[in-house]
Amino acid sequence: MKTKPALDAKISRRSLLVKVAALVASVAAIPALVKSGYAQAAGKAPKATMQYQDKPKGDQQCSTCIQFIPGATPTANGTCKVVEGAISPKGWCVAYVAKK
Ligand code: SF4
Repeated sequence: MKTKPALDAKISRRSLLVKVAALVASVAAIPALVKSGYAQAAGKAPKATMQYQDKPKGDQQCSTCIQFIPGATPTANGTCKVVEGAISPKGWCVAYVAKK
């Protein structure tokens, strides 16, 4: 019969494998991003590549992201340091990083 510590180690190993798989998938996507031209162009990624959406994801939205450059008013579209085009303060993308 297995003891609880062995079970915890098995779960941790599985969790680690999932994280490693996610990392490998992220690294594998880099050539596609470079091929899309964003790296050589304006230095910003296309919205589609970054899975940008005009609505928040949970409690995450552009107005609370460190990459967001606000527009003229709190509700006006602004810009982003890493995603091209007009950016809604209520938008979101996979590059979201919360302001501290
Ligand atoms: Fe919004 Fe993404 Fe830019 Fe952050 S990185 S401001 S979430 S578009």
